[in-house]
Amino acid sequence: MVEEMFDTQESLRDIQTYSAKCQGCGASMVFDPETQSLKCPHCGSKGEVEKNYTVIENDIRKGFAEAEKWNPDEQVTYKCGNCGAVVVMSVDEEASICPFCKATHIAKDGSFQSIRPHMVIPFQFSPQKATEFSKKWARRRLLAPRKFKKNINVDQIKGVYEPCFTFDSNTKSTYHGRVGNKRTRTIGSGKNRRTEVYIVYRNVAGDFERFFDDVLIATNENFDQKELNKLSPFRTDMACVYESKFLSGFMADGYRKNLDESWADAKDEIERRIRDMIISRLHCDVVDYLSVSTTHSSVTFKYLLVPVYSMFFRYKKKDYSVRVNGSTGKVRGKTPISPLRTAIASLLGVGAVILTLVLLAGII
Ligand SMILES: [Zn+2]
Ligand SMILES: [Zn+2]
Repeated sequence: MVEEMFDTQESLRDIQTYSAKCQGCGASMVFDPETQSLKCPHCGSKGEVEKNYTVIENDIRKGFAEAEKWNPDEQVTYKCGNCGAVVVMSVDEEASICPFCKATHIAKDGSFQSIRPHMVIPFQFSPQKATEFSKKWARRRLLAPRKFKKNINVDQIKGVYEPCFTFDSNTKSTYHGRVGNKRTRTIGSGKNRRTEVYIVYRNVAGDFERFFDDVLIATNENFDQKELNKLSPFRTDMACVYESKFLSGFMADGYRKNLDESWADAKDEIERRIRDMIISRLHCDVVDYLSVSTTHSSVTFKYLLVPVYSMFFRYKKKDYSVRVNGSTGKVRGKTPISPLRTAIASLLGVGAVILTLVLLAGII
């Protein structure tokens, strides 16, 4: 029954669409985020992209067993000999440098086995716009050297779909623990009279139920959970069924954690959120201990690609990166700090303090 379903899906999807050729000139068309359609970089012709927003949840108990393979007719995979990144591209395109470490030791690798992404959040704006967002962000980094800021240009930025698994889970938890609230009291008398803070503890226990929807879990070290959380939220409401058209002109990073490892990470993440919610519900100031035990049911997963514009720099022998959430424009990154600018800033700071003191003293 299930196999039949996949057969139908396979035949419904026109194999020709894997390679999006321009009807006018035969060049490979690329996905244009600004118009959300295919565009020929050569003659400017346009091609419609229809989006299917049907959300298909996959039972985690079946794992990858029923998942469709990411067909080698549809994607070509490169492996970087320097940093080990697995870069997935549309069949019409070629990679010459690694988008992560810029090494040129990047070669086609047929050994990459992956399931086909279930869904994708398409890039919502162009690399030009991502560059503008990054420049704006860098301008506010007052201590970053000018040379570094000047480095931010559209040639440096790469649009890479990062691989995530998203999990849904119905959770039921029981908890018990000991929490406390701060109180104050006045003690002593006369000269020794003072206020003291003390904590009143109480034992707590209870149940907690919550349905978690689309918990996003990062699946490799190029783009780990920390990076994902910093760039979140992603517009999961814009996620549509994956089609290779969305990859044209962009790249995808392959997942390196399997489903079991990712689900273990998701359970930790969910557990953390449940603890936070229980603690906030208890209205306490301190937690002596809180033990939470959770059961998960109706767990489903999706393999989702999220859009990230990345820039990697080497500055004075150190690596820096700036990333832009391709669905919201949120920018996160680290810039080097210019010693000269830091010195000027602290001098200005000292100057401001002196000026304030002078004004307060009414000297001027
Ligand atoms: Zn064309
Ligand atoms: Zn690399």
